[in-house]
Amino acid sequence: MCPICPKCKEIIEYLSYSSCNYRGGTISIDEKGFEEYEEDGNLDLINQDITFNCPECNEELFTDDDEAISFLKEVDELQEVVVEKLNKIKEKNDMPKM
Ligand SMILES: [Zn+2]
Repeated sequence: MCPICPKCKEIIEYLSYSSCNYRGGTISIDEKGFEEYEEDGNLDLINQDITFNCPECNEELFTDDDEAISFLKEVDELQEVVVEKLNKIKEKNDMPKM
């Protein structure tokens, strides 16, 4: 079982996310007259601007990575509990009857 989108009720295995990547660098004109970009590389992701969306309906579900991760994780934990309980029931059934 996978998490279910609270908006469209579709089963989703993952969330899409998007965020602003700030880029920085310098631009100059080289000896041939062409512009020359020198990037400092991508600066750190700015987490405040991150949004997590449902891949099915594209609705924004979370704006916080902790929330998004726990949304994906909680189901796994629940699933584990269910599997554990099922195993216990099985064990009980496998036990020889007195
Ligand atoms: Zn959805």
